Amino acid sequence: MYKKMPVIALEEHYWDRELAAQLQGAEGSRSQDMLNRLYDLGDLRLKEMDEAGIDIQVLSHGAPSAQKLDASIAVDLTKRVNDRLAQAISRHPTRFAGFAALPTINPDAAARELERCVKDLNMVGAMICGLTNGMFHDDERFLPIFEMAEKLGVPIYFHPSFPDKNVSEVYYDKYAKDYPQVVRAAWGYTVETATQAVRLILSGLFAKHPKLNVILGHFGETLPYQLWRIDQALKRPGHESVNFREVFTRNFHITTSGHFSTTALVCAMMEMSMDHIMFSVDYPFVANKPAMDWLDTLQISNTDMRKFLSGNARNLLKI
Ligand code: ZN
Repeated sequence: MYKKMPVIALEEHYWDRELAAQLQGAEGSRSQDMLNRLYDLGDLRLKEMDEAGIDIQVLSHGAPSAQKLDASIAVDLTKRVNDRLAQAISRHPTRFAGFAALPTINPDAAARELERCVKDLNMVGAMICGLTNGMFHDDERFLPIFEMAEKLGVPIYFHPSFPDKNVSEVYYDKYAKDYPQVVRAAWGYTVETATQAVRLILSGLFAKHPKLNVILGHFGETLPYQLWRIDQALKRPGHESVNFREVFTRNFHITTSGHFSTTALVCAMMEMSMDHIMFSVDYPFVANKPAMDWLDTLQISNTDMRKFLSGNARNLLKI
């Protein structure tokens, strides 16, 4: 059914050689096949998109992107990374769009870089990966980034990265050796990114910036499933004004990156509506085929499928 519909995949990663060289041990932890895909923004990627039936990939740098960079190099390096991404997109403008990397360690410069990337380089938003050197982004120092995103009308995508060292030690070390993914995709990424989202809402950010849009991957990092309990618990006597559900279902959008579960989709549709759910693969960390095979099994209306596969992304990202 979906095969005649355009498909936009939203959380699709690549690596920039200069930035990846700053991320300690990044290359050593990946197979040659994976590195080939991460560094390719041309033939191999396009071939695999064509085979799968993906029309557009929205490209973003793999985690931790610019969030762990030293302040002394972050601003200039991130500019070069974004310039190179824009050049790669300009070679295939009908197949690629891009989320900017931001030097969040310097929030004013990050806001200016977001403006430059959207106005001059045609990027469709920005992606922030994990914490900025141990800081959650609800801290007031990061406000200039969100003010700029709201002003430009572009979303900020919050993507996971490795949990904070102290958290890893207390929560995961006992099992991390035998089950390294417990720190990452299996659990650690979700805990940190869901916590980031909860903190953003509690900070009052969306009262100050009601038109700010935030994207979460991995089916909303469990939050749609938890929505009733979070909303109810936060509203206990004395805090009736906190409206977690209202903010989450209005300002947040979620994608299916690396998470192809029909039961999760049904839950998200019921809690958030199909207008806030967008298709993603998480290429190349996840292959395109299992994502597309999953689409084959879905029994949702043509109208919902169209929103899910491209309509919502076109509206939110103005592609
Ligand atoms: Zn990802």
